Amino acid sequence: MEGLTPGEPPDGAGDATRLIHHPYRAPDGFDAVPVAVHKASTVFFPNVEAMRLRRWQDKSGYTYGLHGTPTTFTLEERLATLEGGRHCVLAPSGLAAIALVDLAFLRSGDEVLIPDNAYGPNKALAAHELAAWGIGHRIYDPMDPADLAAAITPRTRLVWLEAAGSVTLEFPDVPALVAVVRAANAGRERPILTALDDTWGAGVALRPFELGVDVAMQALTKYPSGGADVLMGSVVTRDDDLHDALLMTHMRLGLGVGANDAEAVLRGLPSLPLRYRAQDAATRELARWMQAQPRVARVLHPALPDSPGHAAWQRDARGAACLFSVVFEPDVTPERVDAFCDALRLFRLGYSWAGPVSLCVPYDIPAMRARPWPHAPRLVRFAVGLEDVEDLRADLAQALRALT
Ligand SMILES: *Cc1c(COP(=O)(O)O)cnc(C)c1O
Repeated sequence: MEGLTPGEPPDGAGDATRLIHHPYRAPDGFDAVPVAVHKASTVFFPNVEAMRLRRWQDKSGYTYGLHGTPTTFTLEERLATLEGGRHCVLAPSGLAAIALVDLAFLRSGDEVLIPDNAYGPNKALAAHELAAWGIGHRIYDPMDPADLAAAITPRTRLVWLEAAGSVTLEFPDVPALVAVVRAANAGRERPILTALDDTWGAGVALRPFELGVDVAMQALTKYPSGGADVLMGSVVTRDDDLHDALLMTHMRLGLGVGANDAEAVLRGLPSLPLRYRAQDAATRELARWMQAQPRVARVLHPALPDSPGHAAWQRDARGAACLFSVVFEPDVTPERVDAFCDALRLFRLGYSWAGPVSLCVPYDIPAMRARPWPHAPRLVRFAVGLEDVEDLRADLAQALRALT
């Protein structure tokens, strides 16, 4: 086999060898709108020296599929740009991205602080796995910076933030919470880090790094995908050292994402700002309409003036996601609330959001929260899809009749 370049089949090679060692070269000079799906576990090296010298961390070359392909590197670059950061790491789900942040920065003996209205599984991960590894957690009231200040101890290492909060959609004063952490960091050897779950803002409504956070995590499952067909998460940073820590933990945990899934998210990104604005407008219209309906006690949506954190939302956000929640009058029984959800036709029962189909979920808030909840326990969280808004309003109107 002397004189052959690597990968070239020798004369007289068998059929199987010829099929595998075909003279394929990645196309050069092919230019089009979509990003190609580059799939690989193995990538080839031309010789041993190149194999030994190639560094996977700096994206100057390709080493192994788990460390990235042109498709995932492109998605990472675009997401870092979208969030106003410099680096991005992809994880196989939004929850895996949360876990990656926890595992990269927390050690046995540390404490993590989580807002009471955080995405539920974030709290569950802390209460189970992190607790079992000797990492403590405390729940704080995100609407009260003094409550965060009181929760900080010498062991605190990470503070999670979420704007707006999951399900009840209170909008916290993020700069005030970040200021509490910065004040506590004076003179600390290991500073407390802040991580924002930016799934609601999606890189469109919020500028996480301008709000002062260190880490912006997102469930790409929601808006960036937009199709209700992909599970993925991202962690974006500006700081090189934070990114390196995330990247090393990511590598050691073996967290990869499939190229087809990465390509599906890349396909969703160009329409992300348009979808965000269209769903925002429809959501505000339905939230306002819902406020005027009988038996409705409260509609939670940060753009409504009586919703908690409205002033902070007005100051810090440039839009709102497709979510609103409805609290009914106290005499509407939980069974009637469930009957209302069952009566909906276009709003389907299902988790997640920001896809084409409108969704609803009835939640029992006191079971999810450490702090008292002053309203009727069962509320309904709506996620508005891309249907015609008049049809969605008509669906809500017919289902409201099931309440009485
Ligand atoms: C959906 C969601 C997640 C988790 O995303 P998955 O991809 O479903 O794991 C995390 N945070 C928030 C705020 C979410 O809404």
